Amino acid sequence: MGSKSVTILGAGLAGLSTAWHLQKAGSSCHVYEKEPEPGGLCRSRNIKGFVFDCDGHLLHFRHKEAFSLVKELLGDNLVQHRRNSWVSHDGRMVRYPFQANLFGLPRPVLRECLAGFISARRDGCLPSRQNFLEWIEGTFGEGIARHFMVPYNTKFWTIPPQQMTAEWLDGFVPQPSMDRVIDGAVHDNRRLLGYNSHFWYPRKGGIGELAAAFSRNVKNIHTGFQVKAIDIRRRRIIFGNGVSRRFDELVSTIPLPELGAMIPDLPEDIERAFGRLRWNSIFNLNLGLRQRNPSAKHWIYFPQEKVSFFRVGFFHNFSEGLVPAGRSSLYVEVSYSRLRPLDKASIHVRIEKDLRKVGLLEEGDAIECRDVNDIRYGYPIYDHHYASARMQILDFLRWHDIIPCGRYGGWRYMSMEDVILEGRDVAHRLIKYPDKTARVIKQSEAGQ
Ligand SMILES: Cc1cc2nc3c(=O)[nH]c(=O)nc-3n(C[C@H](O)[C@H](O)[C@H](O)COP(=O)(O)OP(=O)(O)OC[C@H]3O[C@@H](n4cnc5c(N)ncnc54)[C@H](O)[C@@H]3O)c2cc1C
Repeated sequence: MGSKSVTILGAGLAGLSTAWHLQKAGSSCHVYEKEPEPGGLCRSRNIKGFVFDCDGHLLHFRHKEAFSLVKELLGDNLVQHRRNSWVSHDGRMVRYPFQANLFGLPRPVLRECLAGFISARRDGCLPSRQNFLEWIEGTFGEGIARHFMVPYNTKFWTIPPQQMTAEWLDGFVPQPSMDRVIDGAVHDNRRLLGYNSHFWYPRKGGIGELAAAFSRNVKNIHTGFQVKAIDIRRRRIIFGNGVSRRFDELVSTIPLPELGAMIPDLPEDIERAFGRLRWNSIFNLNLGLRQRNPSAKHWIYFPQEKVSFFRVGFFHNFSEGLVPAGRSSLYVEVSYSRLRPLDKASIHVRIEKDLRKVGLLEEGDAIECRDVNDIRYGYPIYDHHYASARMQILDFLRWHDIIPCGRYGGWRYMSMEDVILEGRDVAHRLIKYPDKTARVIKQSEAGQ
């Protein structure tokens, strides 16, 4: 890469991993982060002895290399857990994933779900991924669609599944075999299914331990540097603190909609493409409780429209050290968007009322502390404009030597493992292909 220096915007896991891999290979780079500390979404906060993550953040590994890197960073501070997660359905709990654990459901619902599944499979056609509703019905049948998949996904994405494609779901939605569904319908099947059947979490401290370990091993992280504008012609970045820097190679993990607003004089078609990006936001309320344990589960899904949250998880079941002795803590997740706005003035009261309604809080339970994370960019929405708008924007950025990276910089549904690996790939391509054109081709081939 010669004497060119790489500038990385954002010190979340994607930016940290890119920098770590570049520096390990002897290349120079600088990371600029707007917050006072690195980590992005992978951060934890200690309030009165309760350690809260920025919403639930658990590590799942599909790739040995990602696991080895995390192990190298965290050493012994990493424990594997067997998932214990559930779905709330009409006042009862069924094991997650719903589609493989119909056993606990009322007879007529179980019958409808099973018959629908068998009929969908009998059809034998591979459902198209162009329409998420058709994909759900074609994969799981109408019963599972009606009783879980459609209400849950509508609540989570904030738009109905027919307005989305199913391009995002590789591995994220378990697709059990016919045998597995029948098995799970006739008895309480404890065999786990899905990419997240086990997860890893630090033994001590929250998920922020991972970002902290990365940060200790990366030089040149500059915090308090909020990018305000990028002059793509002069190749300059202007920060909110008055500093400006020239760049040779720029890696951006800044959320795409924000980046669009930072580049002046965008061509009209690119500006329109930025305007077509959609996302949901996540309002996360963490509670530190005086009582011992409202649940032994790891997390529970709530597909019901009348309940404000779509998921509740229990930090103290990931690691005892996350709460003071004899206490417990939970995280609550509520999804909202421009299409389904949230009344932020009343949501706290509503959440606590709903926690009581579903039995996770009881009258008289004392809440010792509250922690709020209002996550503006939760999940990019894969609607019918998503693929073309994203591709147009990424091609434009690459052409101007801005390399998109990470969940929000590259605008994809990605896990922590995914962004760590993408940071590695971006670093390797920068080292291997110093010539821009070759790199752009390689990046497009990788589908990023
Ligand atoms: C609610 C929720 C739950 C999740 N749960 C899990 C889970 O259980 N397991 C899992 O593997 N993954 C989970 N994820 C995904 C995981 O959080 C992400 O894949 C990963 O943390 C993204 O890292 P990133 O570096 O791409 O983005 P970020 O972490 O968002 O980092 C981007 C960085 O850029 C900085 N930045 C933004 N704008 C500017 C600017 N103008 N100037 C300078 N810096 C800027 C930000 O401050 C931030 O530090 C979850 C995500 C969400 C939203």
